[in-house]
Amino acid sequence: MTAEKLKELRSQLDGINVKLLDLMTERAEIVTDIGKVKAKIGTKRFDPVRENQMLEDLVSRNKGPFSDDTVRHLFKQIFKASLDLQKTDQHKELLVSRKIKKTDTIVDVKGVKIGGTEKVIFAGPCAVESYEQVRAAAETLKANGVRLLRGGAYKPRTSPYDFQGLGEEGLQILRKVADELDMIVISEIVSPYEMEVAHKYLDIIQIGARNMQNFELLKAAGDANMPIILKRGLSATIDEFKYAAEYVLSRGNSQVILCERGIRTYERATRNTLDISAVPIMKSETHLPIIVDVSHSTGRKDIVIPTAKASLAAGADGIMVEHHPNPPVALSDAAQQLNPTEFAELCTALKPFLS
Ligand code: PEP
Ligand code: MN
Repeated sequence: MTAEKLKELRSQLDGINVKLLDLMTERAEIVTDIGKVKAKIGTKRFDPVRENQMLEDLVSRNKGPFSDDTVRHLFKQIFKASLDLQKTDQHKELLVSRKIKKTDTIVDVKGVKIGGTEKVIFAGPCAVESYEQVRAAAETLKANGVRLLRGGAYKPRTSPYDFQGLGEEGLQILRKVADELDMIVISEIVSPYEMEVAHKYLDIIQIGARNMQNFELLKAAGDANMPIILKRGLSATIDEFKYAAEYVLSRGNSQVILCERGIRTYERATRNTLDISAVPIMKSETHLPIIVDVSHSTGRKDIVIPTAKASLAAGADGIMVEHHPNPPVALSDAAQQLNPTEFAELCTALKPFLS
């Protein structure tokens, strides 16, 4: 075969490639139109029966040299690419995305603005243990200018034999103390069944790391008319974190505060690995406020101040920290809860970072 002949055959091949591309483009345009019609009448984009019919029709016309399986495989790729095109067309951007909403979402709870220019501190005991304990913790918060009181009543514990929380009684205690001291109260619920009590006693509902992908709870949070703190899952990727928030927004509740609380890695020096990079990523890619839980991410009191500073410097809208009036006797997370002196030191250290 002469070099001339090879050149000519290659040029024919180039022409066929272009024709194939033009045909695929034409096909994609028709598929997009079909997608629009389907969206209007409300039918599903993907129709496996129709796809199978198309494939079998092509196979019946196959004269070789490709095997039937190869023909199926090649066309399946083309079908999938066209289908993906419809997907990106219909769900181009998530509601959490900054491309959809350019301005920062500010969650206003009784005058405290989360996500605005001021930075906030959420603090309080890991678990609500008694009225006296919560009242003492709240007084320390108040003395340090902190109004956002957290405390767990429904505790998602790793072991079923560990203290499980006081349940509704815990929420009642939080509400009572918050009303007495004009504070804002945040607590976790672990199932959609607790929505009703949450509305009765809380100002902000927390969805914990273990429930970030509890989709029924996320849907219930989306139907709630209350701000939600959504914590990142133990091993959740940033995309999964975004989609969890999307569940809430997609049901009409855009009052979502994200919370980075560390993810599980091989590192054992800290309880989890605080993913500081999630803060600027979530700030630039979503419009939602984000806070950092410096207690559960580190599990260590001795590095709470630098990690809190780092979080705020990286753009976090606030931090969450556990404080107990007497940590050694705490019923959960005793090692990581700050005592009153340590909490005051943290607040003083963060003053330059708070606005
Ligand atoms: C908590 O904040 O009480 C808690 C249990 O945290 P996480 O869900 O992040 O583990
Ligand atoms: Mn805890």
